[in-house]
Amino acid sequence: MKSHQKQSNIEIPIDGEGIAHEPPLPRQYGTELLVLKEGKGVYLWDVQGNKYLDFGSGIAVNAMGYGVEEIARIAADQIRKIVHTSNLYTTEPTLTLASKLIASGPFQAVHFGNSGTEANETALKYARLYAKRKRGDGHHTLLTFSHAFHGRTLGALSVTPTEAYREPFEPLVPGVEVCPYNDVEALKRIVDSRFAGIIVEVVQGEGGLEVMTKEFARALNEVRDAFDLILIADEVQTGMGRTGYLYASESVGLKPDIITLAKPLAGGLPLSATLIPEKINALLQVGDHGTTFGGGPVTTAVASYLWDTVNNPDFLMGVREKGEFLGEALEALRKECPSGAIRLSRVRGMGLLRGLEVEAEEGDLSEWMKRILQAARKEGVLVLRSGKNVIRIAPPLVISHGEIEEGIERLKGALKSVSL
Ligand code: PLP
Repeated sequence: MKSHQKQSNIEIPIDGEGIAHEPPLPRQYGTELLVLKEGKGVYLWDVQGNKYLDFGSGIAVNAMGYGVEEIARIAADQIRKIVHTSNLYTTEPTLTLASKLIASGPFQAVHFGNSGTEANETALKYARLYAKRKRGDGHHTLLTFSHAFHGRTLGALSVTPTEAYREPFEPLVPGVEVCPYNDVEALKRIVDSRFAGIIVEVVQGEGGLEVMTKEFARALNEVRDAFDLILIADEVQTGMGRTGYLYASESVGLKPDIITLAKPLAGGLPLSATLIPEKINALLQVGDHGTTFGGGPVTTAVASYLWDTVNNPDFLMGVREKGEFLGEALEALRKECPSGAIRLSRVRGMGLLRGLEVEAEEGDLSEWMKRILQAARKEGVLVLRSGKNVIRIAPPLVISHGEIEEGIERLKGALKSVSL
């Protein structure tokens, strides 16, 4: 029989800077990608041996850094015992992690998934289910906020108002309204009994690192109580210690019904969690929702280790303290970098999720941002972008003061080389 398999010996060109050109990956990620090979602590090496300090943790994922022996051991032991069961059964690691998570607040159960967007899909579905089974039809509207980011699947994308993410895929899920972030008056004007739920971030991770005010948190709690809404805190990026609190909600007094978690939850393995209260769990019936892989024994075994490490007052205090140090270093850097074609206008964020806002006196801002990120890589530090014009810094939570100083020095070199 004739084989239809393509016989090819694919050679992907990688240049001396470790960049693969035109890789066989979708163009949504660009046509030039740095090929990383290994990591230890907060450092990474590419395939050509170039070394980088990681100021991004993937995208706020690798809380413990790279090459963590304990994570490797736990995952390998669990794979040898049982790698997967489906959700028709469960396992001890899954039950152990779920018990730990529900003890972190007024929760009764955890739906596990594999990514942030799935955790939010689940939360949105539960909000609608709760409204329908408790209050009947006509209360399905969902509220989101300007510059929010909740994921790429169609439901989560429907509550992500930034046009660039949505436009090719419209029309999206109907029944979504958008309110300006941190605008108490607008919130009170918009919300009424048509709504099922509100989804909100305490720090807008992808949308420019704006932080929720305490007044806004209070207003969100109040409108939830007034209309029996489901208040969802999307802590996919901010949860698990990133801001120096177990959940960023605690820092502003937000009292969510549901918390969603993902990025750092399983030390770099794909796992998400949607934490739900008794009032929602009581309304769920067999078959309402599900997943094949979510919450398997390997990811949950590793996540228990992460949880025990992070959910510790000394660890969280350490993150808060290093976050202050990073914030002060960025403020000093902002003042030190002279205004030329670009200007560093503001330091944003909290804890170890910080940003430097860039303004361009001339030229295209997005070109400047590309040049800054590239210059940083050439200086040996990997940083991220948030929104249109914020350099985002989200290092592994285990970073030391000395490593923060080193990263800031490298970033300074990059900013100077770009704005000269
Ligand atoms: N929610 C927030 C706040 C995020 O920052 C992200 C990803 O950046 C998501 C949801 C989507 O997560 P994922 O990419 O794992 O689907």
